[in-house]
Amino acid sequence: MLLGATTGGRFMTNTARPDFAALAKSLKFRTQAFINGEFVDAVGGEEFETINPATGEVITKIAECDARDVDIAVAAAKAAFEDGRWSKLAPKERKRALQRLAALVEQNSQELALIESLDNGKPVDDAIAADLPDAVETLKWHAEAIDKLYDQVSPTASDLVSLVVREPIGVVGAVIPWNFPLAILAMKVGPVLAGGNSVVIKPAEQTTLSALRFAELVAEAGIPAGVFNVVTGFGETAGQALGRHPDVDCLSFTGSTEVGRYFLKYSAESNLKRVILELGGKSPAIVMDDVDDLQPIVEQLAIGILFSQGENCSAGSRLLVHEKIKDRLLEALLEHFKTWNVGDPLVEGTRIGAVIEEKHMNRILGYIESGLKEGGRLVCGGKRVREETGGFYIEPTIFDGVNNAMTIAREEIFGPVLSVITFKTVEEAIQIANDTPYGLAASLYTNNLHVAHKVSRAIRAGTVSVNCFSEGDQSVPFGGFKQSGFGGREKSFHAHDQYTEVKTIWMQLK
Ligand code: NAD
Repeated sequence: MLLGATTGGRFMTNTARPDFAALAKSLKFRTQAFINGEFVDAVGGEEFETINPATGEVITKIAECDARDVDIAVAAAKAAFEDGRWSKLAPKERKRALQRLAALVEQNSQELALIESLDNGKPVDDAIAADLPDAVETLKWHAEAIDKLYDQVSPTASDLVSLVVREPIGVVGAVIPWNFPLAILAMKVGPVLAGGNSVVIKPAEQTTLSALRFAELVAEAGIPAGVFNVVTGFGETAGQALGRHPDVDCLSFTGSTEVGRYFLKYSAESNLKRVILELGGKSPAIVMDDVDDLQPIVEQLAIGILFSQGENCSAGSRLLVHEKIKDRLLEALLEHFKTWNVGDPLVEGTRIGAVIEEKHMNRILGYIESGLKEGGRLVCGGKRVREETGGFYIEPTIFDGVNNAMTIAREEIFGPVLSVITFKTVEEAIQIANDTPYGLAASLYTNNLHVAHKVSRAIRAGTVSVNCFSEGDQSVPFGGFKQSGFGGREKSFHAHDQYTEVKTIWMQLK
């Protein structure tokens, strides 16, 4: 039975904000893997617990898949791909099915946002304002693109025809992180399905529930069985099995740089499947001394490091500020940080929810310890709060007096912790910004057009935002330089390219 039906349509969008705490009590979850159009237990019958980070309580138990389940899911995806039930469908038919899926996700946005919040700890209003619209927009954009992408005819002699065509790559494995579970899932599924491929998703073990509700909507949208599958479980078992599977043609991973490396190894040791990696970051936010109004800048800086509890791959976690304006900017930033309250993710007005799990909270606290030990000056936050709730909450935290060699300036903390570093010249700002193994994103605040051009071209990162903190929308590619990415780009037509193979057809005419 579909969850939307069991909850009596109470999650419709365009209505007043519901009482999410009350609705959470009536939610029912899908907990089995979704393979070949059916919800099924793991072959081994094992289950694992998924925890609500806001309370530390178990939400439910989920099927723990391993290599045996991955084999079944990949076989289903391969059979679907080979018999053409999706891959050979007319582009406009695939478009209609993906548009129906986008519409269903939109209709069920409040419910999906609530699931996301319960499983991840993020404020439900953030999920409604950001994660869900993003997922819907992604699906719509790639659906629309399906029948607007043309292949090529190359210039040849008149007794030849030479076509350069794009064909689906086949079975795509997608391994997803926990920070934007549904938005990132949509970022893979949109272009993968648009390209005519089949997919096997492995969600993060911490945040599986929204992928399973999404699977119900995939079936409701009329996307044929076997085209979209979800194997639930852990990275070392289910994730690795997908990465090593000989019948997976492409593996698209978003997650940490550390785990991303494994997928290159899995590919090299199996079938040389194409690997696409979207990885971590340590992005700089650079503020020049020519800026005038500091208020809009501090607002953007705060979004850069505090949105999503700082659990954002492109978080602006290193604030590089010109020494002449550092004191003024820091004072304004400290004042503004007070408006970012930490609270219950289901309560209206909460801006910072819980971090994903206890282990991760302790990791963030460990980084704060290291910042203190290495000589950083803690000017706000630094502690766990709301411990009495059983949840995993951390205050917005700022370290002043950081230098770029300190651990907190080099490693991805993935929490609400900002490091303030000063510079004297534009050249020094560029040098510090690029002194990192990562290259995902950067933002720059300046009123000087020449500086804006010079710095945005000099920074080695996939996205540079000037006078804002932004990753752009579906129309532009997203991905990382250096150890922030490998093999492709999400979003835009670049995403389509990475899930297709290029074929040349060379025909001699009589
Ligand atoms: P993670 O690397 O720990 O896990 C990501 C996924 O990999 C999960 O599904 C996990 O089960 C799986 N996995 C873990 N170990 C594995 C193994 N040995 N073999 C196969 N699969 C394995 O990442 P996370 O903690 O879920 O997410 C946080 C990280 O993701 C951060 O580094 C963040 O920067 C990055 N991220 C990057 C982007 C981007 O677009 N560049 C977006 C979001 C998150």
